Amino acid sequence: MAGKITLEKDKISSNYQEHDFYDLIIIGAGISGLSTGLMWLKNTQGKKTLLVEKNRYPGGYVTAYEREGYVFETTQLFPDIIAILEYLDLDIKLKPYTGAFMRRIVVDGDKLEQYKIPTGSENFSEYLCGLFPGEAANIRRFVNYAVDLFSQVRRLKAIRTPLDTLMTPFRAPKVVACLNLTYSGLLDKMGIKDPRLREVLETFGAFSGVPSDRASSILAVGAMLSSMTQCFRPYGYYDEFPAKLATLYQRLGGELLLGSPVERIVVENGAVTGIRIAGGQRTIRAKQVVTTIDPNVAMRQLVGDEHLPATYIKRLEDTIMSPSSFNVSLGLDNGIDLSKLDIDYPYNVVSTGLGTSEKLFDAFLAGENAFSDTCFHAALICPSLTTGAKNTVTVRGVPFGINDWSVWRKEDPARYKEEKERWADFFIKIAEKYFIPGLAKHIVVRDISTPATYARWSGSPTGSIYDMASLVTQFGPKRLPMKTPIAGLLQPKFAHSIYGSMNNGIQVVDLMLDRAFNGGNSLFMPRGK
Ligand SMILES: Cc1cc2nc3c(=O)[nH]c(=O)nc-3n(C[C@H](O)[C@H](O)[C@H](O)COP(=O)(O)OP(=O)(O)OC[C@H]3O[C@@H](n4cnc5c(N)ncnc54)[C@H](O)[C@@H]3O)c2cc1C
Repeated sequence: MAGKITLEKDKISSNYQEHDFYDLIIIGAGISGLSTGLMWLKNTQGKKTLLVEKNRYPGGYVTAYEREGYVFETTQLFPDIIAILEYLDLDIKLKPYTGAFMRRIVVDGDKLEQYKIPTGSENFSEYLCGLFPGEAANIRRFVNYAVDLFSQVRRLKAIRTPLDTLMTPFRAPKVVACLNLTYSGLLDKMGIKDPRLREVLETFGAFSGVPSDRASSILAVGAMLSSMTQCFRPYGYYDEFPAKLATLYQRLGGELLLGSPVERIVVENGAVTGIRIAGGQRTIRAKQVVTTIDPNVAMRQLVGDEHLPATYIKRLEDTIMSPSSFNVSLGLDNGIDLSKLDIDYPYNVVSTGLGTSEKLFDAFLAGENAFSDTCFHAALICPSLTTGAKNTVTVRGVPFGINDWSVWRKEDPARYKEEKERWADFFIKIAEKYFIPGLAKHIVVRDISTPATYARWSGSPTGSIYDMASLVTQFGPKRLPMKTPIAGLLQPKFAHSIYGSMNNGIQVVDLMLDRAFNGGNSLFMPRGK
C-alpha cells in the first residue's frame, strides 16, 4: 500500500554536534563520501569528522524510493567489493550472480543476435571461442592480456614516491603501454576483427557511457574484469547499502548532517578553513575538507574562481563530464510472471549494431539526441526477482545529455511532461519487443527519471551519472588530481561506479595519512593485510 513501506535510508538521521572545529569535513554522502568517512575513522582515533549531505538521505546515486506501493532502485550491480566489505566488517546479504552475467541482444535490421555472457574470465573466453572459432587465438590473447593488465594495475601506486614513478615501466609495462590506448585500440592490437565479436566486447566500454573508440582501455578492462569476476546485488533494496555504511560511520564516531547543502568552501590565504551551509550563519571550521561532488560545482561555485589559478580553471573548463540517463521504472500487476522470462541477469542489454555507441555519444557531445528506432542502446533490470517485492522493471537509456531537460522542468512543465512520456513510451516499446512481450498492458505505475532528475538529485548540473567521462584523454595522470590548488582541500575522483567510489575514499584517506593505510596502492590493499 502506498506510503506504508519504510526503507533503510529513512532510518538514518543527522547526529551533528555543532562543534566549532573539525579535523575533517566531507562534502557529499554518496558512496565516495561515505567511504572516505569510514576509511578515515577506521584508521584514525578521536578525530572530529563531519559528513555533510544536501539530500535528506545518504547514498547519492545509490538509492531506492517508493512510489504507490512499489519500490524502485537506481543501481543494479556491485562488482567485486567483498574484500572492502570484509575490511569494514559490513554485514550485508548479497546475491551472487554465478551463471550468466549479461544477456546481450544486438539488433541489425530484421536480424537479431543473442549472447549470454558468463561470469568468470575463463568461461567468458571459452564461450566466445565457441561462438567465434576463427577468432579463438585473438580472443584468448585478449582475455589473457586483459587479466595481466588488470593485475599490473594492482601493482601501480596511485600515490607515488619518485622511486615509484621510476619503477612504473618495470612494475606495470602493460599499463604504461595502454595509458593512451582506447578500448577499441586494444581490440585492434589484439587482432580482433569480426564485427559481431567486437560488438559483444565493446559492451564493456559502454558500461561507462562512452564509446570504445574514446574509452580508456584500462578502465574498460577494469570494468569488464571487476564485474565479470564476481558480481552481486543486495537481496534487500539498494538503499540498504548506503544506510549500512552511514550507520557504521556514525557508530565509529562520525557526525552526519543531512538536508544541508554546502554553499561555500571557505578559503583564506590559499588554504581551506571550513565550509558554510546554505542559510547557515557561521563557518564550520575544519583542518581539511574533502569534496566528492561535481568538480566544477565544488571548485568554481563553492570555492570560487578568485581562489584558483587560471591553468586549473582551464582544466576544469576542458573536463568533459559523463552523460546522463533516461530511466523508466515500472510497477507491474500480478498477471505477469517475470520469473518465466529469462531476465534475471544483472544486465539485459539491447542495442542496434556496431557504431551505435559512437553515434549516440557524438550526439550527446553536440547537445543532441540520436536515439531512434534504428539507433538505440538500452538496459533492462528486474529487481523484484531478487527482492521478492511487487513486480518491478526498470528500462534505461544511456547516453542522454542534459540538453533542454532542466529548462523544460523549470520553465515549461507541460513540455517536460510531454517529452518524458514520449521517451518513456519509446523505451517501454523496446523492452516489450525484446524482453517482455505484452509489457504495456501490465503497467500499474510508471516513474520516470530524466537527466533533469539526476541533475537535481546529485547536484551535477549536467546530470552526469558517471562523474568525469572515462575518456582516454581524462584517465590516470590526465584526470583531475586529488590535490586541488587549495591547501587542505582534496577531491578524490579516481573513478565512478560503486567500486570506483569506494576506491575514491580509500585513496584520499591514504593520501591524508601519508600512505600509512593503503601503502599508496592504486587498488584496495591495506597495509598489514
Ligand atoms: C541510474 C544509475 C545507475 C547506476 N548503476 C550502477 C551500477 O549498477 N553499479 C555501479 O557500480 N554504479 C552504478 N552507477 C554509478 C554509481 O552509482 C556512481 O558512480 C556512484 O554512486 C557515485 O558516487 P559518488 O559518491 O561519487 O557521487 P554521488 O552519488 O553523486 O554523491 C554525491 C553526493 O553529494 C551530494 N551533494 C551534491 N552537492 C552538494 C552540496 N553542495 N552540499 C552537500 N551535499 C552535496 C549529493 O546530494 C550526493 O548525495 C549508476 C548511476 C546511476 C545514476
